[in-house]
Amino acid sequence: LVRLRARLSRSQNVFGKGLLGLLSRDHLDEDAWEEIEDSLITADVGVEATREIVDRLRERTRVLGTRTASGLRALLAEELVSALSPELDRSLRTTGATGNPAVILVVGVNGAGKTTTCGKIARVLVADGRSVLLGAADTFRAAAADQLATWGGRVGAEVVRGPEGADPASVAFDAVRRGIDVGVDTVLVDTAGRLQNKIGLMDELGKVKRVVEKHGPVDETLLVLDATTGQNGLEQARVFTEVVDVTGVVLTKLDGTAKGGIVIAVQRKLGIPVKLVGLGEGPDDLAPFDPVQFVDALLG
Ligand code: GDP
Repeated sequence: LVRLRARLSRSQNVFGKGLLGLLSRDHLDEDAWEEIEDSLITADVGVEATREIVDRLRERTRVLGTRTASGLRALLAEELVSALSPELDRSLRTTGATGNPAVILVVGVNGAGKTTTCGKIARVLVADGRSVLLGAADTFRAAAADQLATWGGRVGAEVVRGPEGADPASVAFDAVRRGIDVGVDTVLVDTAGRLQNKIGLMDELGKVKRVVEKHGPVDETLLVLDATTGQNGLEQARVFTEVVDVTGVVLTKLDGTAKGGIVIAVQRKLGIPVKLVGLGEGPDDLAPFDPVQFVDALLG
């Protein structure tokens, strides 16, 4: 939690400022409410969600007669947590059916942090005593397979790759085949995220998925999303959710943004559980997403 808090310090500043403005007032006037609203919108919570959160907060402070800053902070925390759908199951399915490896597809636009996230997840699983195989099905970006191979060496996971420009689906197929033969616990498949158009993406990712499913079901499809792309990134993300059955979101680069509220927008707009957050470029900079801890870190 301390680490999460430190990494989110920029987001915290944004939320904190709005709250500080409130602390210095002896009553919650229109300006104070506007300040809260502004700080939520600045933090990328999104206009609709902000309006709902602030309306509920106003109503509840009125009904409860809340006047103190700590009382207000507690109510705001409750509203933010509830906007994050705390009831969702955020566990990662890392056990495959009938003794086969669990297969996890990692999808998202280029640069979102897919390869890095594959490496970090592998690291967590290996540290947990599991065997992991990485499939480098991002065959379009020349450096992607090298990058994944570096991660594999670093965390102790075999990497299956194809020649440059190989068919991503065939590499994915080979990776899962190899994972079954070797008997690993988990196969993580890094995919390409060329978002030239929806049809192209659908063809490519759809094929990867279909081909992998010849070996058995895909256990998890994780959509990697760059938190710093804000509301625009959300629109792109939606295309992925229309193309593949996304089971979880990984929100990366939360360490590099003052807009941590994007998690709320993502959770609301996509309705898919945010399962993991990326908090840096290093192997240990990945954390399970916990709404209560997250809001706590945001509010400082
Ligand atoms: P891909 O194209 O989706 O596979 O993206 P990469 O994994 O290559 O990541 C793109 C860049 O983002 C790299 O420089 C990563 O080190 C960086 N990156 C990935 N995740 C995070 C994160 O959580 N925080 C920060 N600060 N950088 C990240």
